[in-house]
Amino acid sequence: MAIDPVCKMEVNEDGAAGKSEHGGTTYYFCSAACKKAFDEDPGRYAR
Ligand SMILES: [Zn+2]
Repeated sequence: MAIDPVCKMEVNEDGAAGKSEHGGTTYYFCSAACKKAFDEDPGRYAR
């Protein structure tokens, strides 16, 4: 399982609604809305 960096929910990598790469790390999202929020401001959520 991965942690959705936006809402902190656990996300199954295979069933993720979306994913984004930032700084060499792949992040998985529970919904398109979370992915959109991350893509708009990755630095706010990524560490
Ligand atoms: Zn989410």
